[in-house]
Amino acid sequence: MKNLEKFYIGGQWVAPAKARSMPILTPATGAQIGSVALGSEADVDAAVAAATRAFASYSQTSKGERLSLLKRLADQTRNRMEDLAQAMTLEMGAPITMSRADQAAAGLGHLEAFITAFEAHEAEETLPNGDIVSYEPIGVCGLITPWNWPINQIALKVVPALAVGCTCVLKPSEHTPLSAQIYAEMIHDAGFPAGVFNLVYGDGPSVGSALSRHEDVAMMSFTGSTRAGSAVSRDAAATVKRVTLELGGKSPNVIFADADVDARVAEGVTECFYNTGQSCNAPTRMLVERDAYDRALEVARATAEAQAVGDPAAEGDHLGPLFDEIQYERVQAMIQTGIDEQTPLLTGGLGLPDGLPEHLQTGWFVRPTIFFDVTPEMTLWKEEIFGPVLVMTPFDTEEEAIALANDTPYGLDAFVSTGDEARATRMARAMRAGGIHINGRAADYGSPFGGFKQSGNGREGGRFGLEDYLEVKVRPPFTK
Ligand code: NAD
Repeated sequence: MKNLEKFYIGGQWVAPAKARSMPILTPATGAQIGSVALGSEADVDAAVAAATRAFASYSQTSKGERLSLLKRLADQTRNRMEDLAQAMTLEMGAPITMSRADQAAAGLGHLEAFITAFEAHEAEETLPNGDIVSYEPIGVCGLITPWNWPINQIALKVVPALAVGCTCVLKPSEHTPLSAQIYAEMIHDAGFPAGVFNLVYGDGPSVGSALSRHEDVAMMSFTGSTRAGSAVSRDAAATVKRVTLELGGKSPNVIFADADVDARVAEGVTECFYNTGQSCNAPTRMLVERDAYDRALEVARATAEAQAVGDPAAEGDHLGPLFDEIQYERVQAMIQTGIDEQTPLLTGGLGLPDGLPEHLQTGWFVRPTIFFDVTPEMTLWKEEIFGPVLVMTPFDTEEEAIALANDTPYGLDAFVSTGDEARATRMARAMRAGGIHINGRAADYGSPFGGFKQSGNGREGGRFGLEDYLEVKVRPPFTK
């Protein structure tokens, strides 16, 4: 049993002000594997006080000092990569091969890109009018992260905050505390001064809300659902904090008939199902030019039916379970809604996947599912499902493809495949999303990640990620 009973505050592991905890369940079987303490407002106060004290000196450290701390954190990340991967497989069900190659590796990829961006960062510049602008750390930051990409999200927030001289309080998802605990140990072992990084476990309405409302917190960076992101914004409004939000998505994947249709459709299906469909930027709406639509349906069905689902502890490219029972029920309810609305089902459907070994039948596994001929008034077209459920629809013209792609309140990523470069560029410009994937290729670590519309505001990663944590100050040149 892994019982996480303490919070990391002021450089030490300390007991919560009030005893309250919840079980940690492993999604592969639903069994309890430990418990995690849930904090209260008093724990948030203690963590913010530690971060406030540390800010006075940490914000004055040199760029060189902070760069060497970040490089030590990179060494720690390399040393603890396997621990991080195993923790995420256990707590949220990412298959171990993927956990190593992507979930844990993202922690290092983002960190290295932030180091490169920070090396190039200038803390002061002179404007063409002669005035001098300086960029300064905003202060104590509250960081709230989700369970679906636990270390990816922690690195995208903690690293830029600490790079530019902010101090922080992290509230990771209450469902993925094991990887967060390892991250705190890595920060400690890298030698960051006490109070610079603090960790409080807890749920959204208590710890998350207390952090968002706290008058000594200068900025909230939140990743999660649009519902919780709005709550953070409301809570932060009274103290006029800066709030950056990375929220949900319903990303379109537009495939023209002049693309390598077989390859792009197969890849689009696989990418939609990746992480068991629990990625904010998953390409969940596949739009295919009518001439290629019948072929696309064949390839999509074959790809989904060949997609193995199995034990996350086993190596391989199978899908794992959804991360918990509530998510399982939510995905089942969405599939049922599709059926009730007479949305045509291509493959998959309700219930557990076929052939699941007996010891996994209590886990939260779902069948990779595809609906087709989906139209914009259908629920499955509109709502983020957060499971391995793809919807497909045909289109006739480029204008129609753009209108369908943009027919969503979200705007995180958008995908386009075509053999025509001019069309790829036109589509990239016309689709209202923060990141465009072209012919299967996405932007790299160090590029900005974030959304238009209700997918949020602010950008994470590299230079843009650093800028979120900086205040701008201007002064005239010195004259007597
Ligand atoms: P969630 O919103 O339920 O929880 C996210 C975090 O917010 C957790 O730490 C949770 O405890 C906290 N929280 C919940 N209610 C809160 C409140 N009222 N005040 C403060 N904090 C609160 O989301 P989730 O289920 O953990 O994650 C799935 C969602 O996250 C999906 O919608 C997905 O699209 C989104 N997501 C977005 C990105 C991105 O970068 N855009 C990345 C990953 C996940």
